[in-house]
Amino acid sequence: MPPTHIAALHTELVRTIHFLHQKGYAPATSSNYSVRETGDDCFYVSESGIDKGDFTIANLIYVDANGKPINDPRRPSAETDLHTLIYQLCPAAHCVLHTHTLYNTVLSKYFAAAKSLVLQDYEVLKGLTGIATHTAQVVVPIFENTQHIPDLCQAVATYWHENPDLRAFLIVGHGLYTWGNTLADAKRHIEVLEFLLACEYELLALRKA
Ligand SMILES: [Zn+2]
Repeated sequence: MPPTHIAALHTELVRTIHFLHQKGYAPATSSNYSVRETGDDCFYVSESGIDKGDFTIANLIYVDANGKPINDPRRPSAETDLHTLIYQLCPAAHCVLHTHTLYNTVLSKYFAAAKSLVLQDYEVLKGLTGIATHTAQVVVPIFENTQHIPDLCQAVATYWHENPDLRAFLIVGHGLYTWGNTLADAKRHIEVLEFLLACEYELLALRKA
């Protein structure tokens, strides 16, 4: 049995996973999630191939700082290396959330050639940690999708070194990644971003009508 505080963190993550699944953010066993305890290089990541509506604490896999399972034969998410990268490049992060939604998928394709999407003049931007005004400009870069995760990690790492204020990123035709210093921060960030992606989509549709 894990210590009480870890069990509470796991319970909170599973509750968040069910919340995101219920919103339609994790179709067909997709999406992945992780949490890391303060002072721990290792982290807990979601098991691959599990319907997120049925996800339980038993589907969390403890992996080392390189994303390799510790005394566990199960397969963690195929994208665990992206979680590893985020924790390495953002030591303050303690939770990473990744969603596959209608709006993030469609907009990542629509803006693929531009390689980024800019969010500005939205009150809800203030839900992102450190943003104090709706006039703040939040750039969400868009990376090429690939099944070769090391290439994706390299692209994200290169961008991040040049843009240290990175808060989230999209992958073309795939989904959204964001993170937070706490699980609550990460959940709020994914809600803000998914809401604003929906706004951007609806605005585009209205302008084309
Ligand atoms: Zn994915």
